[in-house]
Amino acid sequence: MKTYNHFVNGKEMEPNSGDYFDTENPYTCENWAKVAKGNAYDVDVAVNIAKDVFENNWSKTKPTERGKLLVKLAELVERDAQKLGEIEVQDNGKLIAEMGAQTKYLAEWYRYFGGLADKVEGSVLPSDKPGIFNYTKYEPFGVVGMITAWNSPLLLLSWKLAPALAAGNTAVIKPSEFTSASTLEFVKLVSEAGFPNGVVNCVTGMGIEVGQPLVEHKNVSKIAFTGSDISGQKIYESAAKKIMPVSLELGGKSPNIVFEDADFEAAIMGVISGIFAATGQTCIAGSRLLVQETIYEKFVKRLVEVASEAKIGDPMSFDTHVGPVTTQPQFEKIMNYIDIAKSEGAKCILGGNAYSSKDIKGDRFVEPTIFTDVRNEMRIAQEEVFGPVLSIIKFKDEKEAIKVGNDVIFGLAAGVWTNDIGRALRMSDNLRAGTVWVNTYRAVSFMSPFGGYKRSGRGRESGQESIKEFLQTKSVWIAEQTSIANPFIIR
Ligand code: NAD
Repeated sequence: MKTYNHFVNGKEMEPNSGDYFDTENPYTCENWAKVAKGNAYDVDVAVNIAKDVFENNWSKTKPTERGKLLVKLAELVERDAQKLGEIEVQDNGKLIAEMGAQTKYLAEWYRYFGGLADKVEGSVLPSDKPGIFNYTKYEPFGVVGMITAWNSPLLLLSWKLAPALAAGNTAVIKPSEFTSASTLEFVKLVSEAGFPNGVVNCVTGMGIEVGQPLVEHKNVSKIAFTGSDISGQKIYESAAKKIMPVSLELGGKSPNIVFEDADFEAAIMGVISGIFAATGQTCIAGSRLLVQETIYEKFVKRLVEVASEAKIGDPMSFDTHVGPVTTQPQFEKIMNYIDIAKSEGAKCILGGNAYSSKDIKGDRFVEPTIFTDVRNEMRIAQEEVFGPVLSIIKFKDEKEAIKVGNDVIFGLAAGVWTNDIGRALRMSDNLRAGTVWVNTYRAVSFMSPFGGYKRSGRGRESGQESIKEFLQTKSVWIAEQTSIANPFIIR
């Protein structure tokens, strides 16, 4: 079995405790590597190195130089994309067809923010104080703690790391304990690209043993987090004690809304992609399908037809549509929600069971599952399942679609299917979500801001503005000549 250590100051670092934990392939359900089990001591070592490198090196590097290193890193990510994708599949069980493309696409974040590094400009302000010159500049925070979830480890990391490094911060990363391997492979590329040692560090382990000490560490100046709203809330509370800025990318319960005037087959595919792609293990899952009553019967019938053809199996095979669930606790959570939905009176019209077959390994598959007769107040419509479970709700008109669509605690994304441009605009205006897709679903880009309304988070990742999440503004006042003024009156 392969052994992974922490990565600190440009090299491997063994865990202070000497302990390792197993990481498992969700498809075979066999352990394939051992990963360093970090603790507060390891976090302390990594953070202090990152602070030292920030103060004495990285924050003084010219932005153009930082940009060039990021572009170099992009090339290395592209070179190793297939290998990184395969490691992610081995650790999280998502399809190679998706992960291979995703790891290749990561390079664009490093290229984009590499280009942006030397284009962040302060201003010279028109002064109302004669003889005093006033300008603003943007400065990095220092050490940024980055904590990520297991479903797309390197994508979620890159959304944080690329802008944070471009802005001049250093990083200590804590990947999910379920999927640490790809991050530990990736950080080696950071060294190969020529970044100074200690700019990017990675300490692996559990949320409480590594994540929490990272958040609480006195030398960590900002946290960028992706994960559940429950963990996000705890991190926000801990950060509040330090008055530390945090960005939070949390869960969702996104509505995918189909109107009678939509392109029927395109909407069917959009709904399938929203909930069954990635085995539903995606924050932007369109887990609530709202269908207009005039097309309800026909739409649901066709949806079941298409969904029942989804091929369940080996995530490394290019003809698989639905892979295993990544972790055993997540598998149990999904099965539990299926029971909850049934007990609430929702009607299971497809799936609803664990899946097994002699042709596949492991035992962590869930059939694509569809519930009708769902009322929006049911738990199955309100809570994030994070699995291939779709709840269908009938609606009458736009007003009702907006009301039901918004009636959850989350606000990460929403889909709208219509050929009426006025309706598309009205729906986009009225849906309380950080992303609204019209006649498409699951589109993300390095150029476009991503983040949540309501309990889905705070802050935005990707797009030009997101670099400001990793910068603070300084206002500098310089008197052209010294003068003696009344010290007891504000200038
Ligand atoms: P999680 O909250 O259980 O864990 C996320 C990370 O936080 C892990 O690295 C974990 O070890 C760490 N952690 C847990 N408790 C902590 C604590 N008290 N202090 C510090 N760190 C702690 O989430 P998960 O199960 O890994 O991921 C699934 C969740 O992530 C879903 O809710 C999903 O919607 C969300 N997600 C959101 C986005 C987004 O961009 N909005 C993207 C992907 C996943």
